[in-house]
Amino acid sequence: MGIQQQNYWLTTAEMPKADASRAIPQSVDVAVIGAGFTGLSAARTLAKKGASVAVLEAETIGWGASSRNGGMVLSGMKLGVNKLISMYGRERTQRMYAASLASIDCVEQIVREENIACDFSRCGHLEVACKQAHFDDYARQVEVIRREFNHELKIVPRGELRSEIGSDSYYGGMVDESSVGVNPARYVAGLGAAAIRAGACVFEQTRVQKIERASQTAVAGWKVTTPRGALWAKNVFVGTSGYTGAATPALQKKIIPIGSYIIATEVLPDALARQLSPRNRMIYDSKNYIYYYRLTPDNRMLFGGRAAFFPETGDSIRKSAEILQRGMIEVYPQLRDTKVEFVWGGTLDFAFDIMPHAGQIDGIHYALGYAGHGVAMATYQGHLMALEMAGESPENPFVGIPFPGAPLGLYNGKPWFLPFAGAYYKFLDWVS
Ligand SMILES: Cc1cc2nc3c(=O)[nH]c(=O)nc-3n(C[C@H](O)[C@H](O)[C@H](O)COP(=O)(O)OP(=O)(O)OC[C@H]3O[C@@H](n4cnc5c(N)ncnc54)[C@H](O)[C@@H]3O)c2cc1C
Repeated sequence: MGIQQQNYWLTTAEMPKADASRAIPQSVDVAVIGAGFTGLSAARTLAKKGASVAVLEAETIGWGASSRNGGMVLSGMKLGVNKLISMYGRERTQRMYAASLASIDCVEQIVREENIACDFSRCGHLEVACKQAHFDDYARQVEVIRREFNHELKIVPRGELRSEIGSDSYYGGMVDESSVGVNPARYVAGLGAAAIRAGACVFEQTRVQKIERASQTAVAGWKVTTPRGALWAKNVFVGTSGYTGAATPALQKKIIPIGSYIIATEVLPDALARQLSPRNRMIYDSKNYIYYYRLTPDNRMLFGGRAAFFPETGDSIRKSAEILQRGMIEVYPQLRDTKVEFVWGGTLDFAFDIMPHAGQIDGIHYALGYAGHGVAMATYQGHLMALEMAGESPENPFVGIPFPGAPLGLYNGKPWFLPFAGAYYKFLDWVS
Protein backbone atom coordinates (compact mmCIF):
# COMPACT_ATOMS: atom_id res chain seq x y z
CA MET A 1 0.00 0.00 0.00
CA GLY A 2 1.32 3.55 -0.82
CA ILE A 3 1.07 6.52 1.51
CA GLN A 4 -2.52 7.65 2.03
CA GLN A 5 -3.25 11.24 2.98
CA GLN A 6 -5.54 10.09 5.74
CA ASN A 7 -5.67 10.28 9.53
CA TYR A 8 -4.83 6.77 10.72
CA TRP A 9 -6.75 7.20 13.99
CA LEU A 10 -10.00 7.79 12.11
CA THR A 11 -9.71 4.32 10.55
CA THR A 12 -10.02 2.92 14.09
CA ALA A 13 -12.91 4.98 15.45
CA GLU A 14 -16.56 5.68 14.83
CA MET A 15 -17.76 9.17 15.66
CA PRO A 16 -21.23 9.51 17.22
CA LYS A 17 -23.81 10.80 14.77
CA ALA A 18 -25.51 14.06 15.55
CA ASP A 19 -29.15 14.17 14.43
CA ALA A 20 -28.88 16.24 11.21
CA SER A 21 -32.65 16.80 10.95
CA ARG A 22 -32.93 18.41 14.38
CA ALA A 23 -33.70 22.15 14.27
CA ILE A 24 -31.52 24.62 16.12
CA PRO A 25 -33.26 25.46 19.42
CA GLN A 26 -34.52 29.00 19.96
CA SER A 27 -32.66 29.49 23.19
CA VAL A 28 -30.22 27.61 25.42
CA ASP A 29 -28.30 28.21 28.61
CA VAL A 30 -24.95 27.75 26.85
CA ALA A 31 -23.91 27.73 23.19
CA VAL A 32 -20.60 25.87 22.89
CA ILE A 33 -18.58 26.59 19.75
CA GLY A 34 -16.42 23.68 18.56
CA ALA A 35 -16.86 19.93 19.11
CA GLY A 36 -13.33 18.92 20.14
CA PHE A 37 -12.04 18.00 23.61
CA THR A 38 -12.62 21.53 24.95
CA GLY A 39 -16.17 21.99 23.71
CA LEU A 40 -17.37 18.44 24.31
CA SER A 41 -15.88 18.25 27.79
CA ALA A 42 -17.60 21.54 28.67
CA ALA A 43 -20.87 20.34 27.12
CA ARG A 44 -20.76 17.08 29.08
CA THR A 45 -20.16 18.80 32.42
CA LEU A 46 -22.76 21.52 31.75
CA ALA A 47 -25.41 19.01 30.69
CA LYS A 48 -24.71 16.90 33.79
CA LYS A 49 -25.27 20.06 35.85
CA GLY A 50 -28.69 20.42 34.24
CA ALA A 51 -27.92 23.22 31.75
CA SER A 52 -29.41 23.20 28.26
CA VAL A 53 -26.48 23.08 25.83
CA ALA A 54 -26.11 23.39 22.04
CA VAL A 55 -22.70 22.47 20.64
CA LEU A 56 -22.24 24.21 17.28
CA GLU A 57 -19.55 22.60 15.12
CA ALA A 58 -18.51 23.90 11.68
CA GLU A 59 -17.55 20.40 10.46
CA THR A 60 -18.18 17.17 12.36
CA ILE A 61 -17.59 15.87 15.90
CA GLY A 62 -13.83 15.64 16.54
CA TRP A 63 -12.94 17.05 13.12
CA GLY A 64 -10.25 19.43 14.48
CA ALA A 65 -7.00 18.68 16.30
CA SER A 66 -8.78 16.40 18.77
CA SER A 67 -8.92 13.42 16.38
CA ARG A 68 -5.61 14.16 14.67
CA ASN A 69 -3.09 14.39 17.50
CA GLY A 70 -0.43 12.05 18.86
CA GLY A 71 -2.66 10.86 21.71
CA MET A 72 0.00 11.85 24.25
CA VAL A 73 -1.65 12.88 27.51
CA LEU A 74 1.22 14.76 29.08
CA SER A 75 2.20 16.31 32.40
CA GLY A 76 3.61 19.84 32.47
CA MET A 77 3.21 22.58 29.91
CA LYS A 78 4.96 23.50 26.70
CA LEU A 79 7.23 25.95 28.57
CA GLY A 80 9.80 24.56 31.00
CA VAL A 81 9.34 24.96 34.75
CA ASN A 82 12.13 27.52 35.26
CA LYS A 83 10.64 29.73 32.56
CA LEU A 84 7.20 29.38 34.16
CA ILE A 85 8.52 30.36 37.59
CA SER A 86 10.25 33.41 36.07
CA MET A 87 6.96 34.43 34.40
CA TYR A 88 4.42 33.69 37.13
CA GLY A 89 6.32 33.19 40.40
CA ARG A 90 6.47 30.01 42.47
CA GLU A 91 2.97 29.93 43.90
CA ARG A 92 1.06 30.24 40.63
CA THR A 93 3.49 27.92 38.83
CA GLN A 94 2.86 25.32 41.55
CA ARG A 95 -0.86 25.61 40.89
CA MET A 96 -0.30 25.37 37.13
CA TYR A 97 1.81 22.24 37.47
CA ALA A 98 -0.75 20.70 39.82
CA ALA A 99 -3.43 21.51 37.21
CA SER A 100 -1.41 19.70 34.54
CA LEU A 101 -1.38 16.56 36.70
CA ALA A 102 -5.06 17.01 37.59
CA SER A 103 -5.83 17.28 33.87
CA ILE A 104 -4.48 13.75 33.30
CA ASP A 105 -6.59 12.46 36.21
CA CYS A 106 -9.59 14.25 34.70
CA VAL A 107 -9.14 12.34 31.41
CA GLU A 108 -8.79 9.09 33.36
CA GLN A 109 -11.94 9.76 35.36
CA ILE A 110 -13.99 10.56 32.24
CA VAL A 111 -12.67 7.47 30.42
CA ARG A 112 -13.62 5.30 33.43
CA GLU A 113 -17.00 6.94 34.14
CA GLU A 114 -18.10 6.93 30.52
CA ASN A 115 -16.53 3.58 29.70
CA ILE A 116 -14.62 4.94 26.70
CA ALA A 117 -12.61 2.26 24.85
CA CYS A 118 -9.67 4.44 23.79
CA ASP A 119 -6.65 2.33 24.82
CA PHE A 120 -5.96 4.57 27.85
CA SER A 121 -2.62 3.47 29.29
CA ARG A 122 -0.41 5.04 32.02
CA CYS A 123 2.71 4.20 30.04
CA GLY A 124 4.63 7.38 30.91
CA HIS A 125 6.48 9.78 28.66
CA LEU A 126 10.15 10.00 27.73
CA GLU A 127 11.82 13.25 26.71
CA VAL A 128 15.12 12.68 24.90
CA ALA A 129 18.01 15.17 24.76
CA CYS A 130 19.33 16.18 21.33
CA LYS A 131 22.38 17.89 22.86
CA GLN A 132 24.56 17.37 25.93
CA ALA A 133 23.48 20.80 27.22
CA HIS A 134 19.82 19.73 27.01
CA PHE A 135 20.59 16.59 29.02
CA ASP A 136 22.50 18.62 31.63
CA ASP A 137 19.41 20.79 32.03
CA TYR A 138 17.24 17.72 32.81
CA ALA A 139 18.96 17.28 36.19
CA ARG A 140 18.09 20.89 37.09
CA GLN A 141 14.48 20.42 35.98
CA VAL A 142 14.05 17.18 37.94
CA GLU A 143 15.36 18.93 41.05
CA VAL A 144 12.99 21.93 40.64
CA ILE A 145 10.01 19.68 39.94
CA ARG A 146 10.76 17.55 43.02
CA ARG A 147 11.30 20.59 45.28
CA GLU A 148 8.54 22.88 44.03
CA PHE A 149 5.85 20.46 42.90
CA ASN A 150 6.59 17.33 44.94
CA HIS A 151 6.55 15.29 41.72
CA GLU A 152 9.17 12.69 40.75
CA LEU A 153 10.73 12.45 37.29
CA LYS A 154 13.54 10.04 36.45
CA ILE A 155 16.79 10.83 34.63
CA VAL A 156 18.01 8.18 32.18
CA PRO A 157 21.73 8.56 31.39
CA ARG A 158 22.93 7.87 27.86
CA GLY A 159 24.42 4.49 28.85
CA GLU A 160 20.99 3.26 30.04
CA LEU A 161 18.88 4.78 27.29
CA ARG A 162 18.55 1.48 25.42
CA SER A 163 16.18 0.29 28.15
CA GLU A 164 13.84 3.11 27.04
CA ILE A 165 14.39 3.55 23.29
CA GLY A 166 15.99 1.59 20.47
CA SER A 167 17.99 4.56 19.19
CA ASP A 168 21.52 5.89 19.69
CA SER A 169 20.64 9.42 18.59
CA TYR A 170 20.30 11.02 22.01
CA TYR A 171 22.39 12.20 24.96
CA GLY A 172 20.02 10.82 27.60
CA GLY A 173 16.42 11.14 28.67
CA MET A 174 13.91 12.10 31.35
CA VAL A 175 10.84 10.00 32.21
CA ASP A 176 7.54 10.95 33.81
CA GLU A 177 5.55 7.83 34.67
CA SER A 178 2.32 9.81 35.18
CA SER A 179 1.76 10.59 31.49
CA VAL A 180 -0.67 8.53 29.43
CA GLY A 181 -1.27 7.30 25.90
CA VAL A 182 -4.71 7.18 24.28
CA ASN A 183 -6.24 6.70 20.86
CA PRO A 184 -7.42 10.33 20.48
CA ALA A 185 -10.10 9.68 17.86
CA ARG A 186 -11.71 7.02 20.02
CA TYR A 187 -11.41 9.32 23.02
CA VAL A 188 -13.07 12.31 21.33
CA ALA A 189 -15.77 10.00 19.91
CA GLY A 190 -16.44 8.71 23.44
CA LEU A 191 -16.46 12.21 24.88
CA GLY A 192 -18.96 13.28 22.20
CA ALA A 193 -21.20 10.30 22.92
CA ALA A 194 -21.00 11.08 26.66
CA ALA A 195 -21.97 14.74 26.11
CA ILE A 196 -24.96 13.65 24.00
CA ARG A 197 -25.99 11.02 26.59
CA ALA A 198 -25.85 13.70 29.27
CA GLY A 199 -28.34 15.76 27.25
CA ALA A 200 -26.22 18.18 25.16
CA CYS A 201 -27.37 18.66 21.54
CA VAL A 202 -24.61 18.67 18.93
CA PHE A 203 -25.14 20.42 15.59
CA GLU A 204 -22.62 19.47 12.90
CA GLN A 205 -21.98 21.48 9.71
CA THR A 206 -23.09 24.50 11.72
CA ARG A 207 -20.43 27.20 11.58
CA VAL A 208 -20.98 30.11 13.91
CA GLN A 209 -20.81 33.26 11.81
CA LYS A 210 -21.58 35.98 14.27
CA ILE A 211 -22.02 36.51 18.01
CA GLU A 212 -23.84 39.66 19.17
CA ARG A 213 -24.99 40.86 22.56
CA ALA A 214 -28.77 40.44 22.90
CA SER A 215 -31.15 40.41 25.84
CA GLN A 216 -34.13 38.08 26.08
CA THR A 217 -36.95 38.79 28.53
CA ALA A 218 -34.61 41.23 30.28
CA VAL A 219 -31.86 38.59 30.64
CA ALA A 220 -28.49 39.56 29.15
CA GLY A 221 -27.11 37.09 26.65
CA TRP A 222 -26.04 36.49 23.09
CA LYS A 223 -27.53 36.04 19.64
CA VAL A 224 -25.48 33.38 17.86
CA THR A 225 -25.93 33.25 14.08
CA THR A 226 -25.28 30.17 11.93
CA PRO A 227 -26.31 29.26 8.34
CA ARG A 228 -28.99 27.01 9.94
CA GLY A 229 -30.53 29.91 11.84
CA ALA A 230 -29.84 31.88 14.99
CA LEU A 231 -30.24 30.97 18.63
CA TRP A 232 -30.16 32.92 21.86
CA ALA A 233 -27.76 31.82 24.58
CA LYS A 234 -27.25 33.11 28.08
CA ASN A 235 -23.55 32.18 27.82
CA VAL A 236 -21.23 31.42 24.92
CA PHE A 237 -18.19 29.19 25.35
CA VAL A 238 -15.53 29.15 22.62
CA GLY A 239 -13.44 25.98 22.18
CA THR A 240 -12.13 26.49 18.65
CA SER A 241 -8.41 26.23 19.38
CA GLY A 242 -6.18 26.41 16.24
CA TYR A 243 -9.29 26.83 14.08
CA THR A 244 -10.40 30.04 15.80
CA GLY A 245 -11.78 32.35 13.11
CA ALA A 246 -13.60 35.54 12.27
CA ALA A 247 -16.65 34.80 14.46
CA THR A 248 -14.47 35.59 17.50
CA PRO A 249 -12.10 38.30 16.22
CA ALA A 250 -10.72 39.25 19.65
CA LEU A 251 -9.53 35.66 20.18
CA GLN A 252 -8.41 35.16 16.59
CA LYS A 253 -5.90 37.98 17.03
CA LYS A 254 -4.36 36.28 20.05
CA ILE A 255 -3.89 32.80 18.60
CA ILE A 256 -1.33 31.70 15.98
CA PRO A 257 -2.43 28.60 14.05
CA ILE A 258 0.59 26.32 13.49
CA GLY A 259 0.64 23.15 11.40
CA SER A 260 1.78 19.84 12.85
CA TYR A 261 2.04 16.60 10.85
CA ILE A 262 2.15 12.89 11.56
CA ILE A 263 3.08 9.74 9.64
CA ALA A 264 2.15 6.20 10.64
CA THR A 265 4.01 3.14 9.36
CA GLU A 266 2.69 -0.27 8.46
CA VAL A 267 2.12 -2.62 11.43
CA LEU A 268 5.53 -3.67 12.82
CA PRO A 269 6.48 -7.14 13.98
CA ASP A 270 6.19 -7.41 17.76
CA ALA A 271 9.91 -7.87 18.36
CA LEU A 272 10.82 -4.78 16.32
CA ALA A 273 8.17 -2.67 18.07
CA ARG A 274 9.52 -3.73 21.50
CA GLN A 275 13.06 -2.92 20.37
CA LEU A 276 12.07 0.62 19.25
CA SER A 277 10.10 1.43 22.40
CA PRO A 278 10.64 -1.25 25.10
CA ARG A 279 8.32 0.46 27.59
CA ASN A 280 5.85 1.81 25.08
CA ARG A 281 6.45 5.44 26.16
CA MET A 282 5.10 8.62 24.64
CA ILE A 283 8.38 10.09 23.32
CA TYR A 284 9.43 13.59 22.26
CA ASP A 285 12.77 15.29 21.80
CA SER A 286 14.26 18.46 23.23
CA LYS A 287 14.41 20.62 20.07
CA ASN A 288 12.27 23.66 19.30
CA TYR A 289 11.46 22.02 15.96
CA ILE A 290 10.28 18.99 17.89
CA TYR A 291 9.73 15.35 16.85
CA TYR A 292 7.20 13.35 18.87
CA TYR A 293 6.56 9.65 18.42
CA ARG A 294 5.02 6.52 19.89
CA LEU A 295 3.73 3.09 18.98
CA THR A 296 0.04 2.77 18.23
CA PRO A 297 -1.88 0.03 20.05
CA ASP A 298 -1.57 -2.12 16.88
CA ASN A 299 2.23 -1.58 16.70
CA ARG A 300 2.65 1.09 14.05
CA MET A 301 5.30 3.73 14.59
CA LEU A 302 3.49 7.06 14.68
CA PHE A 303 6.00 9.87 14.10
CA GLY A 304 5.04 13.54 14.20
CA GLY A 305 6.64 16.93 13.94
CA ARG A 306 6.30 20.51 12.90
CA ALA A 307 7.62 19.53 9.46
CA ALA A 308 6.11 22.69 7.96
CA PHE A 309 4.95 25.62 10.04
CA PHE A 310 1.87 26.42 7.96
CA PRO A 311 -1.52 24.87 8.69
CA GLU A 312 -2.22 21.80 6.60
CA THR A 313 -2.77 21.78 2.82
CA GLY A 314 -2.44 18.86 0.37
CA ASP A 315 1.01 20.15 -0.55
CA SER A 316 2.32 20.68 2.99
CA ILE A 317 1.06 17.21 3.96
CA ARG A 318 2.90 15.56 1.00
CA LYS A 319 6.15 17.39 1.79
CA SER A 320 5.80 16.61 5.48
CA ALA A 321 5.56 12.88 4.74
CA GLU A 322 9.04 12.98 3.16
CA ILE A 323 10.55 15.16 5.89
CA LEU A 324 9.09 13.07 8.70
CA GLN A 325 10.12 9.76 7.10
CA ARG A 326 13.70 11.06 6.86
CA GLY A 327 13.53 12.20 10.49
CA MET A 328 12.13 8.84 11.60
CA ILE A 329 14.93 6.92 9.84
CA GLU A 330 17.56 9.19 11.45
CA VAL A 331 16.17 8.27 14.86
CA TYR A 332 15.43 4.66 13.97
CA PRO A 333 17.65 3.35 11.12
CA GLN A 334 15.87 0.00 11.75
CA LEU A 335 12.85 1.49 9.93
CA ARG A 336 14.72 2.23 6.68
CA ASP A 337 12.71 -0.37 4.74
CA THR A 338 9.45 0.05 6.63
CA LYS A 339 6.51 1.37 4.64
CA VAL A 340 4.78 4.57 5.67
CA GLU A 341 1.04 4.05 5.16
CA PHE A 342 -0.59 7.23 6.49
CA VAL A 343 0.18 10.94 6.63
CA TRP A 344 -2.01 13.74 7.92
CA GLY A 345 -1.82 17.18 9.44
CA GLY A 346 -3.68 19.35 11.89
CA THR A 347 -3.53 22.82 13.36
CA LEU A 348 -2.17 23.72 16.78
CA ASP A 349 -3.09 26.82 18.75
CA PHE A 350 -0.22 28.90 20.09
CA ALA A 351 -0.76 32.05 22.14
CA PHE A 352 2.02 34.63 21.87
CA ASP A 353 3.27 33.61 25.33
CA ILE A 354 2.92 29.84 24.52
CA MET A 355 0.54 29.39 27.48
CA PRO A 356 -3.00 28.03 27.87
CA HIS A 357 -5.58 30.75 28.55
CA ALA A 358 -9.11 30.60 29.88
CA GLY A 359 -11.66 33.09 31.11
CA GLN A 360 -13.86 35.70 29.47
CA ILE A 361 -13.11 38.14 26.68
CA ASP A 362 -15.76 40.82 26.06
CA GLY A 363 -18.15 38.65 28.10
CA ILE A 364 -17.60 35.50 26.02
CA HIS A 365 -16.11 32.47 27.80
CA TYR A 366 -13.21 30.64 26.20
CA ALA A 367 -10.33 28.21 26.75
CA LEU A 368 -7.47 27.73 24.27
CA GLY A 369 -3.72 28.13 23.68
CA TYR A 370 -2.68 24.57 24.50
CA ALA A 371 0.44 24.67 22.29
CA GLY A 372 0.53 20.94 21.53
CA HIS A 373 -0.28 19.96 25.15
CA GLY A 374 -4.03 19.90 24.68
CA VAL A 375 -5.34 16.36 25.04
CA ALA A 376 -5.45 16.57 28.82
CA MET A 377 -5.56 20.35 29.28
CA ALA A 378 -8.38 20.94 26.76
CA THR A 379 -10.48 18.30 28.49
CA TYR A 380 -9.74 19.84 31.87
CA GLN A 381 -10.27 23.46 30.84
CA GLY A 382 -13.58 22.58 29.18
CA HIS A 383 -14.66 20.95 32.45
CA LEU A 384 -13.47 23.83 34.66
CA MET A 385 -15.03 26.53 32.49
CA ALA A 386 -18.30 24.57 32.51
CA LEU A 387 -18.25 24.60 36.32
CA GLU A 388 -17.57 28.33 36.22
CA MET A 389 -20.52 28.96 33.85
CA ALA A 390 -22.67 26.81 36.16
CA GLY A 391 -21.93 29.31 38.94
CA GLU A 392 -19.14 27.47 40.78
CA SER A 393 -15.65 28.86 41.40
CA PRO A 394 -13.22 26.08 40.54
CA GLU A 395 -9.48 26.59 41.10
CA ASN A 396 -8.06 27.48 37.68
CA PRO A 397 -4.58 29.03 37.59
CA PHE A 398 -4.87 29.89 33.89
CA VAL A 399 -7.73 32.32 34.44
CA GLY A 400 -6.58 35.89 34.97
CA ILE A 401 -2.98 35.61 33.76
CA PRO A 402 -2.01 38.25 31.17
CA PHE A 403 -3.11 37.22 27.65
CA PRO A 404 -0.75 39.09 25.36
CA GLY A 405 -1.45 39.87 21.70
CA ALA A 406 1.21 40.28 19.03
CA PRO A 407 4.10 42.64 19.75
CA LEU A 408 3.13 46.12 18.48
CA GLY A 409 -0.31 44.71 17.64
CA LEU A 410 1.08 43.53 14.28
CA TYR A 411 -1.32 40.65 13.74
CA ASN A 412 -4.86 40.42 12.44
CA GLY A 413 -5.22 36.64 12.59
CA LYS A 414 -3.32 35.95 9.34
CA PRO A 415 0.08 34.53 10.32
CA TRP A 416 2.31 36.18 7.67
CA PHE A 417 5.35 35.72 9.91
CA LEU A 418 5.28 31.92 10.11
CA PRO A 419 8.06 31.26 7.54
CA PHE A 420 10.30 33.60 9.54
CA ALA A 421 9.29 31.95 12.81
CA GLY A 422 10.04 28.51 11.30
CA ALA A 423 13.49 29.65 10.17
CA TYR A 424 14.09 31.28 13.56
CA TYR A 425 13.32 28.08 15.49
CA LYS A 426 15.53 26.02 13.17
CA PHE A 427 18.29 28.55 13.84
CA LEU A 428 17.74 28.25 17.61
CA ASP A 429 18.01 24.44 17.38
CA TRP A 430 21.31 24.86 15.58
CA VAL A 431 22.87 27.29 18.07
CA SER A 432 21.39 26.29 21.43
C1 LIG B 1 -0.93 16.93 14.57
C2 LIG B 1 -1.20 17.26 16.01
C3 LIG B 1 -0.61 16.51 17.02
C4 LIG B 1 -0.87 16.82 18.36
N1 LIG B 1 -0.38 15.99 19.33
C5 LIG B 1 -0.72 16.21 20.64
C6 LIG B 1 -0.34 15.28 21.63
O1 LIG B 1 0.22 14.22 21.35
N2 LIG B 1 -0.65 15.57 22.93
C7 LIG B 1 -1.35 16.70 23.27
O2 LIG B 1 -1.61 16.93 24.46
N3 LIG B 1 -1.79 17.57 22.32
C8 LIG B 1 -1.51 17.33 21.02
N4 LIG B 1 -1.98 18.17 20.05
C9 LIG B 1 -2.86 19.29 20.46
C10 LIG B 1 -4.28 18.85 20.76
O3 LIG B 1 -4.73 17.98 19.76
C11 LIG B 1 -5.18 20.08 20.84
O4 LIG B 1 -4.64 20.98 21.79
C12 LIG B 1 -6.60 19.74 21.24
O5 LIG B 1 -7.14 18.74 20.42
C13 LIG B 1 -7.47 20.99 21.19
O6 LIG B 1 -8.81 20.62 21.34
P1 LIG B 1 -9.96 21.66 21.08
O7 LIG B 1 -11.23 20.98 21.37
O8 LIG B 1 -9.65 22.90 21.84
O9 LIG B 1 -9.82 22.06 19.55
P2 LIG B 1 -10.10 21.21 18.22
O10 LIG B 1 -10.13 19.75 18.46
O11 LIG B 1 -9.15 21.73 17.19
O12 LIG B 1 -11.60 21.61 17.84
C14 LIG B 1 -11.95 22.90 17.47
C15 LIG B 1 -13.22 22.78 16.63
O13 LIG B 1 -13.78 24.08 16.47
C16 LIG B 1 -14.47 24.07 15.24
N5 LIG B 1 -14.74 25.46 14.85
C17 LIG B 1 -13.84 26.44 14.54
N6 LIG B 1 -14.50 27.60 14.24
C18 LIG B 1 -15.83 27.35 14.35
C19 LIG B 1 -16.99 28.14 14.18
N7 LIG B 1 -16.93 29.43 13.82
N8 LIG B 1 -18.20 27.57 14.37
C20 LIG B 1 -18.30 26.27 14.74
N9 LIG B 1 -17.21 25.47 14.92
C21 LIG B 1 -15.99 25.99 14.74
C22 LIG B 1 -13.54 23.32 14.32
O14 LIG B 1 -14.22 22.83 13.18
C23 LIG B 1 -12.99 22.24 15.24
O15 LIG B 1 -13.68 21.02 15.08
C24 LIG B 1 -1.72 17.91 18.70
C25 LIG B 1 -2.32 18.66 17.68
C26 LIG B 1 -2.07 18.34 16.34
C27 LIG B 1 -2.70 19.16 15.28
